Amino acid sequence: AKGAAMVTAVAYRLTDQARQIQQTMAEFRLSKAQLLEVKKRMRQEVERGLKKNTHQEATVKMLPTFVRTTPDGTENGDFLALDLGGTNFRVLLVKIRSGKKRSVEMHNKIYAIPIEVMQGTGEELFDHIVHCISDFLDYMGMKSARLPLGFTFSFPCHQTSLDAGILVTWTKGFKATDCEGENVVELLRDAIKRKEEFELDVVAIVNDTVGTMMTCAYEEPNCEVGLIAGTGSNACYMEEAKNIELVEGNEGRMCVNMEWGAFGDNGCLDDIRTKYDQAVDENSLNEGKQRYEKMCSGMYLGEIVRQILIDMTKRGFLFRGQISETLKTRGIFETKFLSQIESDRLALLQVRAILQQLGLDSTCDDSIIVKEVCGTVSRRAAQICGAGMAAVVDKIRENRGLDHLDVTVGVDGTLYKLHPHFSRIFQQTVKELAPKCDVNFLLSEDGSGKGAALITAVGCRQRELDAQ
Ligand code: BGC
Ligand code: MG
Repeated sequence: AKGAAMVTAVAYRLTDQARQIQQTMAEFRLSKAQLLEVKKRMRQEVERGLKKNTHQEATVKMLPTFVRTTPDGTENGDFLALDLGGTNFRVLLVKIRSGKKRSVEMHNKIYAIPIEVMQGTGEELFDHIVHCISDFLDYMGMKSARLPLGFTFSFPCHQTSLDAGILVTWTKGFKATDCEGENVVELLRDAIKRKEEFELDVVAIVNDTVGTMMTCAYEEPNCEVGLIAGTGSNACYMEEAKNIELVEGNEGRMCVNMEWGAFGDNGCLDDIRTKYDQAVDENSLNEGKQRYEKMCSGMYLGEIVRQILIDMTKRGFLFRGQISETLKTRGIFETKFLSQIESDRLALLQVRAILQQLGLDSTCDDSIIVKEVCGTVSRRAAQICGAGMAAVVDKIRENRGLDHLDVTVGVDGTLYKLHPHFSRIFQQTVKELAPKCDVNFLLSEDGSGKGAALITAVGCRQRELDAQ
């Protein structure tokens, strides 16, 4: 009888544990009503960002980009492009040819940006960038060319023209001093002067979302939205000039860099944020900022997972209750790691092997739980990102007074491209939450670099027209 009682006690503990684990996961499972609410709030924040009298306090900044049209195929010339702020820093040479045989040829080199440089002084950061450009020009044998340059700078910038952008705030892993509040184009020009090795003509500063939209629009004119689901998260789209109160003029359209990563910074997402989201925020370089981004981009998903695993281990549900050094280490679960764990082709034994590589000794039960945690966190990410996009496409539809909108979204980012389920769940969510829109998603090939070059080409042409 004693034995039977013990068995019952163990069984009870197990089911109680399973119930508690499910309870934790349930906080991440959002209903359709909750997602519709996220969509609705995004729409409200969009309006506040666009309007002059609410812009100051708005969290979703809706920044004008001074890009007024998508490419028309007449772009032509050789351009340099820089791509800073994603997974890699790259320098590119982009050769665009117009006419019957339109073509874009690209050469590029990836450079590392050491963490000391990302988080050192602004001067060190820009000197490093110019050092990389110098190396690239040597490598291409083009030191004396004085090419026009497009700078893809994937951070929020207040633009007053195509070639002026004041950094609002660093995001993601960057924190170099003396840059916030400065015109980043001038910081680059100054560093080029300091080097005294070559001259360049900096024509445009470009957000990566805008570069992605332009690259896709070069192939598909219907593309009027850009999305990045990568290290960070953000979107841009073609807004009616008359709705952009920060810029004079009511004719035509302009691309707006939404900076939707900051959605929720005023507390409007607090009802769906969990204590794990708060812990990730508190551990980050920019506490209190980019709260939506911290729920749905590659740099943070692994951190949410890690916070949940720490908590479950403390409660004795995982890893025999032992919190290892690994589990205490920030940033261990990169996007590529979540992508591997969640792959359907992977047997549990392989999940355990991956955890082992990280230094986490797991039982079979542990690996089942870890996989479920990863899946739950990335599903919520894809869903809230989809809710944001649903708000955008519905806004475009309403702008144009349409009952039905056909639109293409150009997409880039490691999370979207590498993760086995993110893109599917994201697309399903957009479809469900914006049923009056037919949204086509186009992956961009090398979006940031090519797009910066296309915008630079348009900028050069505009300058020639203005000079006449
Ligand atoms: C930045 C955006 C950028 C996005 C994707 C965010 O952290 O604020 O400007 O577009 O990351 O790279
Ligand atoms: Mg990128």
